[in-house]
Amino acid sequence: MPDAELLARHKAVLPEWLALYYQEPIEIVRASGRHVTDSEGRTYLDFFAGILTNAIGYGIAEISDAVRGQLDTGVLHTSTLYLIRSQVELAEQIAELSGIENAKVFFTNSGTEANETALMLATQYRRSNQILALRNSYHGRAFGTVGITGNRGWSASSLSPVKVSYVHGGYRYRDAFAGLSDADYTAACVDDLRDVLRTTTSGDVAAMIVEPIQGVGGFNVPPDGLFAGFKEVLDEYGIPLISDEVQTGWGRTGEHFWGMDAHRVTPDVMTFAKGLGNGLAIGGVVARAELMDCLRANSISTFGGNPVATAGAKATLDYLLEHDLQGNAAKLGDRLIGGLRELAEPYDVVGDVRGKGLMIGIELVEPGSREPSGPAAGIVLEETRRRGLLVGKGGLHNNVIRLAPPMTLTGGETEEALRILGAAIATAQEERTA
Ligand code: PMP
Repeated sequence: MPDAELLARHKAVLPEWLALYYQEPIEIVRASGRHVTDSEGRTYLDFFAGILTNAIGYGIAEISDAVRGQLDTGVLHTSTLYLIRSQVELAEQIAELSGIENAKVFFTNSGTEANETALMLATQYRRSNQILALRNSYHGRAFGTVGITGNRGWSASSLSPVKVSYVHGGYRYRDAFAGLSDADYTAACVDDLRDVLRTTTSGDVAAMIVEPIQGVGGFNVPPDGLFAGFKEVLDEYGIPLISDEVQTGWGRTGEHFWGMDAHRVTPDVMTFAKGLGNGLAIGGVVARAELMDCLRANSISTFGGNPVATAGAKATLDYLLEHDLQGNAAKLGDRLIGGLRELAEPYDVVGDVRGKGLMIGIELVEPGSREPSGPAAGIVLEETRRRGLLVGKGGLHNNVIRLAPPMTLTGGETEEALRILGAAIATAQEERTA
């Protein structure tokens, strides 16, 4: 069936708010390594990995074998009412990797559900429904998580079950403190946190939740140490810190395994999803035992931590650790960021190139200004695709191109992507100047 017909049927039966990329959306039907092939037989180098879902690439035999081994037992899943060996083993590994003392892990099926769980734990623990979040944040698509999303493009419902106060520290390129040095920016955001706590909360806040690098918000990198400044203030009030590592976890940021590590802070809770299953639906929460065990009634997740997902996730984690993919992300990330800054030099349609490891944002602006240019980002998205490269788009103004290739990326693929991005940016410059 041609894509156009599938698209018409999609539109007829799926919600309007289910976003699709490209003027002519594609159906991906096969994949291998860092390449995906669509139903029309076109192959693309994938620099978005399905929003970081395929964290380490496609068709990895060790992961397929682990999943197939579980399928061959005949047990896709029964329920979490019985013991699941791979779930226990994976939880032990994540608890250890988290750096959180006495950590316990709860598995979910998505990042949304992980953050909903974290919110429930924190609100119960502190007997408060007040939450602090960053402006321009994104934490999921359900009732509580939409309620703490500080990006109007994604806050689908305004009817929140929690009382949220937003703090600066998210979108540094454009927020009220843009242009300040790292130290001054950090000091201004910490002051803002103190002010928000004093003026819009009663102090007994349940938690502060942050993305170490904002994902949907446009791959915004705060100064290293910002969250250490926040943590000091939170500790004065006894407020737990939740680090949403859904995009930044598992070594993607190169220098560190968790995004929060760049701030030399151990959070009280971390949430994760996306890349852990390398395409399988799995997420979770890792938290101090005291917080995790604060619930008094029974709870269950029918599918969270099922044997297929946990076997696949364990194989993914083992693979990325054994092959030092974090090191690869650091090395090729540096090359990409350096290469992009160099190639963007002659083009004032590029306002900013930022990122860490293999999480890189390119902010497009109207040439000769700082005005966000959604149309320029749209041109780069379409042009890269036309030339065989898939990238992401996002940001508050939908003007940021997001790069997050699988962490098994090679040097050759890095150069190919740079070449295509260079051509696409040149086209955007030309069309927006004309
Ligand atoms: N947190 C962050 C930082 C995310 O980027 C996302 C997804 N884009 C989520 C939570 C929600 O995850 P999911 O889509 O798996 O529910």
